[in-house]
Amino acid sequence: MIRQKIVAGNWKMNGSKESIVSLISGLLEMDSSSSEVVVAPSFPYLSQVDGLISASSIVLAAQNVSQEVKGAFTGEVSTSMLGDFGVKYVLLGHSERRSLYGETNELVASKVKTVLDSGLTPMLCIGETLAERESGKTLEICEQQLQAVIDLVGIASFEQLVIAYEPVWAIGTGLSASAEQAQEVHESIRSFLAKSSESVSQKVQILYGGSVKASTSSALFQMPDVDGALVGGASLDAKEFIAIVKTAG
Ligand code: PEP
Repeated sequence: MIRQKIVAGNWKMNGSKESIVSLISGLLEMDSSSSEVVVAPSFPYLSQVDGLISASSIVLAAQNVSQEVKGAFTGEVSTSMLGDFGVKYVLLGHSERRSLYGETNELVASKVKTVLDSGLTPMLCIGETLAERESGKTLEICEQQLQAVIDLVGIASFEQLVIAYEPVWAIGTGLSASAEQAQEVHESIRSFLAKSSESVSQKVQILYGGSVKASTSSALFQMPDVDGALVGGASLDAKEFIAIVKTAG
């Protein structure tokens, strides 16, 4: 099964009006790519980025969203608001949201449901901590994170979302998983999904995230079950991000 690669930049809580103009103008120099290129700015900059990328094939993502649709939820942002600014993907369950803001598997699942119901596409982040990996629990943790979503939205909905496998120990640490380590987990994720639906398991795109750089992405992208990357730090540098996209073909 041919799955299109996705290279997505998670800018996290970085950027200013000025720096974003220069980052996007750097990205617009990118040659056309067979991969889908995605950027995820902070909420206040979605409108600006939407305008700057409108004539390009770059796609917009948000870093989070409320599980509620509308109403008295001060400080929250809804899926329809994201839709107003041309957002296609919404990152959900990023390890920083899980560990710093207490997002449980159940809350992440309910956000996935809200995003699917709105017609946007969840980019569902899963992954184990170092302690969990060292105690042999990598797959158990990934499966629990996936199962909570399957229980709420059903396996068929996985055709409408993207998974990002992001080992927590590799995020922002400079310690990328090796291509073989990533492949092993991606293949296991696909096998786990195949127990519920073989066809869904073959269709769903599974990105790798965790300290991806141009020097490591080429080996990652050669792995049969790695369908792209979710890139944090390196996505803030246009040249580096373009170099990663190039390795995806
Ligand atoms: C991320 O935030 O999703 C991420 C993978 O960050 P980094 O590339 O900086 O490790």
